[in-house]
Amino acid sequence: MKLEAFAVVGHPIGHTMSPFIHKKLFALGGLSPEYQVLDMKDLSLEADKLRQLDGINITIPHKQAIIPLLSGLDEKAAKNQSVNTVMVENGQLWGYTTDGPGCCKALANHSANCAGHTLLLGAGGAARAIAFELLPLGGTLTLAVRDKEKGFRLAEELGLGVKVISFTELEGGTEEYSLLINATSVGMYPKSGVSPVSGQVVQRCESIFDAVYNPHETALLQLGKQLGKNLIYGIEMLVYQAVAAHEIWYGATFTEGAISALCREAAQETAKIFGAG
Ligand code: NAP
Repeated sequence: MKLEAFAVVGHPIGHTMSPFIHKKLFALGGLSPEYQVLDMKDLSLEADKLRQLDGINITIPHKQAIIPLLSGLDEKAAKNQSVNTVMVENGQLWGYTTDGPGCCKALANHSANCAGHTLLLGAGGAARAIAFELLPLGGTLTLAVRDKEKGFRLAEELGLGVKVISFTELEGGTEEYSLLINATSVGMYPKSGVSPVSGQVVQRCESIFDAVYNPHETALLQLGKQLGKNLIYGIEMLVYQAVAAHEIWYGATFTEGAISALCREAAQETAKIFGAG
């Protein structure tokens, strides 16, 4: 495939960390393609423009909307019904999802127990991707959601043994978890300063991962810090899902040292743009 024209596509796209991270990854691979930020409202009207690119990162709200424009999906993206990475070959679009692997890589880097008892907040796109990635690892999963019907639908897709509870039930409970993952948008810039759960819930969890990366240290992570928990920051998932996109596009390989350094730089850049927390 050609490696000349790449873009992130979303709406509204505003401040995005994608150009910062992807340009650094291309530079590590000795490449310097164009990388655009494309604010597109209706993807179905933009197919011709997308076909002229070589690779695309898809962000909110288009991770499902891109699917009808694709010539095919890989197995994981088909299962998740979510696409965040597109490879363009001879004008045809092929879809992949790297959110789940990016999350698991960030969790593994911090020795979080991914095969224990996980509490996952939310039932949106990120929650789906993470749940489908975690379940084969053999642990148990509880989904805390504000809309239990939506939670039950996701649990049914995921298979037996996934428990669904409301946030009220979670706050009133006593169950302990090895890992808490926030995959809701609560705490995200510009409505930062709010945690999806109280310290009472955080206290019952060993490791705390927040998929929200803007601000860098969310209110949830601040609670975890005060309570001495093992913390995993959303920016690491963002960097590792981007790394996986480069592996798909051109078989890139990077050293762990280079990616750790990029995680630190991206954290500083996030704090500069969205605030440290
Ligand atoms: P999404 O599909 O819109 O899902 C958002 C989820 O948050 C939904 O389940 C929604 O509940 C829930 N939610 C929103 N407000 C809530 C509230 N007040 N109380 C409880 N739940 C609430 O978005 P997404 O794509 O999954 O993204 C979620 C977050 O993850 C965003 O902040 C995004 O930036 C982040 N993310 C990070 C990465 C990364 O690489 N670090 C990757 C992907 C996403 P309902 O289901 O009831 O609507």
